[in-house]
Amino acid sequence: MTFHIETLGCKVNQTESAAVAELLHAHGLRRAEAEEKAAVVILNTCAVTGEASRKSRQAARRLMRENSGAALVISGCATQLEPQWARDLGAILVSGSAGRRVLASRVVRIALGEAPEPSPQSAAPLPRDLERLPGGAAPGRTRAMLKIQDGCDNFCSYCVIPRIRGRVRSLPPPEIAAEAARLSALGLREIVLNGIEISSYGRDLPDASLIDAITAASAAAPNARLRLTSLEPSTVTEELCGALSGVPNLCDHFHLSLQSGSDGVLPRMLRKYDTAGFFRALSNLRSRFPNAGVTADLICGFPGETDAQFDASLTFIGRCAFSDMHVFPYSARPGTPAAAMPDQIPHTIRRARARAARELAETMRERFIASQLGRTLPVLFERESGGRRIGYTGNYLEVSVSGALSRGDMLNVSLTRARGSEIFGELAE
Ligand code: SF4
Repeated sequence: MTFHIETLGCKVNQTESAAVAELLHAHGLRRAEAEEKAAVVILNTCAVTGEASRKSRQAARRLMRENSGAALVISGCATQLEPQWARDLGAILVSGSAGRRVLASRVVRIALGEAPEPSPQSAAPLPRDLERLPGGAAPGRTRAMLKIQDGCDNFCSYCVIPRIRGRVRSLPPPEIAAEAARLSALGLREIVLNGIEISSYGRDLPDASLIDAITAASAAAPNARLRLTSLEPSTVTEELCGALSGVPNLCDHFHLSLQSGSDGVLPRMLRKYDTAGFFRALSNLRSRFPNAGVTADLICGFPGETDAQFDASLTFIGRCAFSDMHVFPYSARPGTPAAAMPDQIPHTIRRARARAARELAETMRERFIASQLGRTLPVLFERESGGRRIGYTGNYLEVSVSGALSRGDMLNVSLTRARGSEIFGELAE
């Protein structure tokens, strides 16, 4: 019996799809080869923005067209927020909060020919406990995902995630250690500690915080490097950065969700810092990790954002000198306070501001690359293209070196030249 999984959205969704695949393998199902028709097709959806929901619906219609005769199972965040469209398509609906193990067992039963249960009329209640799922890596990857946390209690005014993913739930450190050791024993050279909002890790546990999760993984998998997903700036204290600098195998790449560089906009987003606080967090990191790659998220065209506030935002970002930036035009989400705010910015202006911010991001990126040329850094090689092997540095630069690939090699590379965002290197002696 074969299955195919298509995943939209964040690293947590990718991790959960990898876990579902692992559970299906354990039941004797096999991932369909490319071009091979699968008996069951699974779509793991995303609803973080209006665009993400639109892409989820579009993907569902395409999968239905391309896999006539196969059972289409739709799950994930979009089924939690707006399940009706999936029902209307006639697909089998497993709401995101039902859990990945429920999804996997439904797929197994369908693959065994059992009649699919009728799709639920409402989404399953939000989970109270963190579902234990096997970590894992997509086929042929060197980097494993380990989900240490789910949910969020922050309720930023533009975000639906707390309503889709529920309250903060954390995987206790001993279980993180066990999973990190298992992934490392499988030969995976990098482990990405991810979650919906990892800075909230441990809020639900009696005596654990994010640094306990990281040190547990580090001690259990000393031969793998650890990478963190997005950090909430208000938690990036001097104390945390001091503790992070004591973790021997931690990558010096940090992603900070800035969202706006304007003190006029941040409070209306219900973010928990101002630009001075953000810059302190950035300085805390850079004082301990002087060569770190620091990336950030930015929303452009938030309701009420004036030209002056946007200009101030760009000026602040220029001062932060990120190594890269993910830029999103604001997208109203149903039921969020921001969606009901007056002064919604026209889409043309949102897109124009996003273009300007991406140009700045490109300039910052090239400046950061220029600052890295001439350095020798360890690179984890993971793929090959055009006779060159390609991998990532700890501070998250993609580097290519001539020669044949042996996936999972971690080798010292001298960064010799760049062409735009492309970085070329030579193996160091
Ligand atoms: S921190 Fe804010 S933006 Fe991030 S998931 Fe939580 S509510 Fe959403």
